[in-house]
Amino acid sequence: MDFTIPGKTQTIVEMMDEFVKKELFPLENDLTSNDYDAFENQLNKKREIVKQMELWAPNHPTQFGGMGLSLMEHAFVSEVLGQSPIGHYVFGCQAPDAGNIEILHKYGTKTQKEKYLKPLVDGKIRSCFSMTEVDMPGSNPLMLETTAVKEKKDYVINGHKWYSSSADGAEFAIVMAVTNPENSTYLKASMIIVPSDTIGFNLVRNIPVMGHSGKGYFSHGEIIYQNCRVPQKNILGNEGLGFVMAQDRLGPGRIHHCMRWIGVCNRAFDLMCSRAVQRTIAPGKKLASKQIVQAWIAECAAKIQAARLMVLHAAWMIDTVGASAARKEISMIKYVVANTLQKVLDTAIQVHGGLGMSSDTVLSYFWCHERGARIYDGADEVHKTSVAKRILKDYTS
Ligand SMILES: Cc1cc2nc3c(=O)[nH]c(=O)nc-3n(C[C@H](O)[C@H](O)[C@H](O)COP(=O)(O)OP(=O)(O)OC[C@H]3O[C@@H](n4cnc5c(N)ncnc54)[C@H](O)[C@@H]3O)c2cc1C
Repeated sequence: MDFTIPGKTQTIVEMMDEFVKKELFPLENDLTSNDYDAFENQLNKKREIVKQMELWAPNHPTQFGGMGLSLMEHAFVSEVLGQSPIGHYVFGCQAPDAGNIEILHKYGTKTQKEKYLKPLVDGKIRSCFSMTEVDMPGSNPLMLETTAVKEKKDYVINGHKWYSSSADGAEFAIVMAVTNPENSTYLKASMIIVPSDTIGFNLVRNIPVMGHSGKGYFSHGEIIYQNCRVPQKNILGNEGLGFVMAQDRLGPGRIHHCMRWIGVCNRAFDLMCSRAVQRTIAPGKKLASKQIVQAWIAECAAKIQAARLMVLHAAWMIDTVGASAARKEISMIKYVVANTLQKVLDTAIQVHGGLGMSSDTVLSYFWCHERGARIYDGADEVHKTSVAKRILKDYTS
């Protein structure tokens, strides 16, 4: 494996890094401001500059206006953008739109691509992905209760979803619903495009997450689909292939998420080290002079490097042998990086003392909004079980 960042990617990464630090760090204080519209306005202005710099939608296909970077190239990009909670959004490669774009690109019809994919890549509209249900375990999506029943030329959808991230203001949702209850377990569900202005699409609320309900892109919606009727032509791919398509969405998506989390770790680490050398803890003594703080710094540095190398290795595996053969590596990075992230953030907050708990640094925002890393896209325990099963198979056969 060669870990050198290719020349062209290096230039892109450096330009993005400078932009994130100069243009986006100063906006972060407004993340929790009450005037969301003004904040969104500022973000839109930055998005326009990014487009002029031709750095927009780095991971999306060139034919739709993206930069068409490979998985490995986008991994490095995701790391620098992850330094700020607004990085991916301002550069047009934010979840859940990024995953939805991949699905639309791979499975969308010509009409669906024209109507939804193109404006989504352009950043003119937003979307959400609506799979997790209030009453059923998200860790076992095969137990889905939401149904889409055929009636004349339509599907009629009924179900109660939550954590449909960024549903507030989204133009459409990709909804996972049971269309073929008679099929075997993995072939019961389909993905269906539901425009948010459809009668029966009821956004009940933005769920308060650790005290913040958020707004617009920065929110997680609870949605009741009540006799929500959409044309059958809104199905993505073939009926019953929803879970197969969901797997497609998750493999490369994990590399993006994990490198974004490495970006969060780098930022927290940087803040931690800066604080340690600046904070006077006793006359003539800086916090960084304490051995215990030095040990924390050394441990975090090693954890971040180990996690980063594991992600790059998994990305390399996907590029060389494919996502299916790399399933163990993809699962491993999910829980290793999510736990590294939590440990590094916790240590950075500890080093900052009371300041770390306040909203005067970005650490508390990261702490509230990245704790979910150990839960979404497969909880730690689910991935650990899956990794252990793959390993143990070799011992039992
Ligand atoms: C910030 C955030 C954003 C999200 N965004 C989206 C989104 O955009 N779209 C969407 O559809 N969903 C989204 N989700 C939902 C997410 O995918 C689910 O929360 C996740 O799949 C877990 O499902 P659950 O919450 O129902 O927990 P449950 O399935 O009830 O599991 C609860 C806990 O039980 C344990 N557990 C579960 N299964 C096992 C097992 N087999 N062995 C041992 N222990 C186990 C784990 O510790 C797990 O955390 C998001 C969640 C969060 C927190």
